[in-house]
Amino acid sequence: MPTPEEALKFYFGYDAFRPGQREIVEAAIAQRDQLVIMPTGGGKSICYQLPALLMDGVTIVVSPLIALMQDQVQALQDNGIGAAFLNSSLGPTELRSTEQAVLAGQIKLLYVAPERLMGDRFLPFLERIDAEVGIAAFAIDEAHCLSEWGHDFRPEYRQLKTLRQRYPAVPMTALTATATHRVQEDIVAQLALRDPRIHIASFNRTNLYYEVRPKQRDVYRHLLQLIRQAPGAGIVYCLSRKKVDELAFRLQQDGIEALPYHAGLEDETRAANQTRFIRDDVRVMVATVAFGMGINKPDVRFVIHYDLPRSLENYYQEAGRAGRDGDPAKCTLFFGYGDLNTVEFLIAQKVDPTTGAPLEDEQRIARQQLRRVVDYAEGTECRRKIQLAYFGESFAGQCGNCDNCLHPRPVEDWTIDAQKLLSCIARCKERFGMNHIIDVLRGSRSPKVLQHGHDQLSTYGIGKDRSAEAWKHLGRSLLHQGLMDETTDGYSIPKLNAQSWEVMRGQRTVMIALPARSLDEPAPVG
Ligand code: ADP
Ligand code: ZN
Repeated sequence: MPTPEEALKFYFGYDAFRPGQREIVEAAIAQRDQLVIMPTGGGKSICYQLPALLMDGVTIVVSPLIALMQDQVQALQDNGIGAAFLNSSLGPTELRSTEQAVLAGQIKLLYVAPERLMGDRFLPFLERIDAEVGIAAFAIDEAHCLSEWGHDFRPEYRQLKTLRQRYPAVPMTALTATATHRVQEDIVAQLALRDPRIHIASFNRTNLYYEVRPKQRDVYRHLLQLIRQAPGAGIVYCLSRKKVDELAFRLQQDGIEALPYHAGLEDETRAANQTRFIRDDVRVMVATVAFGMGINKPDVRFVIHYDLPRSLENYYQEAGRAGRDGDPAKCTLFFGYGDLNTVEFLIAQKVDPTTGAPLEDEQRIARQQLRRVVDYAEGTECRRKIQLAYFGESFAGQCGNCDNCLHPRPVEDWTIDAQKLLSCIARCKERFGMNHIIDVLRGSRSPKVLQHGHDQLSTYGIGKDRSAEAWKHLGRSLLHQGLMDETTDGYSIPKLNAQSWEVMRGQRTVMIALPARSLDEPAPVG
């Protein structure tokens, strides 16, 4: 048997494995169950494709996106690898010839859409594969689709359990780019992975440059300039279909090859626009977030968010469509307070379709997620640090590849202020939101403050010298620096951690980077 390196070179032409790939390939060959979590562009495909080529039998790959499946199979075939797919796009003749090729042992990788998997025809076929050529492994791509906690739940994925029950001895590798813990646990449980080897790659996409720019009156000029200066292809994300159409048109008028993409377009137009983008006929895709999930264009050089993303995870995934080939790419977020009203409006529309009553839990979660986006946009620390902290990954130091690292804001010692803020949180028994804490610090006579007797606290009124805005900024900064925690159930109650106590005991200084605008003026609108 060739070494994994030799096989990588032979089949795919790559000289070296990306981080993690070799270990995953080896464990797969050793028949371990695995959960592989890697950011988009990390190189998940190799992790199941290469073992498939080195093992006897057929590897069954479950993948939810037909377009992506076709791309992948084509690419494998172009490399001379026996690969095929079964999905609803096949006619009866093609279906039969694919099945014959599989049973003749000509196919190493068989891609299947999840809804096929449990159809009348597939399970008996799987029995025959098992009996005649053998099933080497199951690879479940986009495995987060089986979790209701994920952002893309697909009920068909629930059926995958049956595969495990029918073929308990066949090793299974589940792969996803979803970072949240909850979804990871769900995948292991649902697929009943046996003592799985869990590989969680860093979510740090080192080749991406992150920046946030103010969304002011002349934002369009600013966008145009960015696009004109950018090399290669890019995506501009907007919140609404109408805006996508308008912006694509306006860019065309200004000589940029741009096309719109959203769910309101005719299927044909949409598919045609996507193909033209992938083939580099047009340089810019103006799109709603419907675009991107599953498009395989590794050389996207920039992703611009013209409007606010819904959550930081969405932002990470959408921006992450840039630079999948590992070459430098730029991610720009335009941020203005005017957008907050728009998103607030959309959140307020989340109501029960039958009763019209507001869906309170959903609204609360959406507001909390929005708040984290604002935190990010207003943040003065390394952008990468803020993003990775959101996924529970700590990133030490400065990345040197974001606007805040390259153009650092002035830094001031705010240790005393931090001590005041944290003590006030402690005095209020870690049970109140930041706005209340700030009211107490600034000596407000609001009914809530008086009702709880918080005007009697020793921290009452000790923070009058700073604006509410300044205190908020400090709170955000403490959070990003890990000097304070907050609850994540949607209510965002600040909580003290071990580092907070070090600050309060004077064992730690707190340095705060100041935002571009003055903290003592009200936030600008628009
Ligand atoms: P993911 O599914 O994790 O988003 P892919 O498997 O599509 O990522 O890989 C992303 C890109 O990286 C592809 O263009 C792929 O060909 C390339 N790639 C993957 N592994 C390697 C490697 N070891 N060396 C060079 N390029 C690689
Ligand atoms: Zn940075």
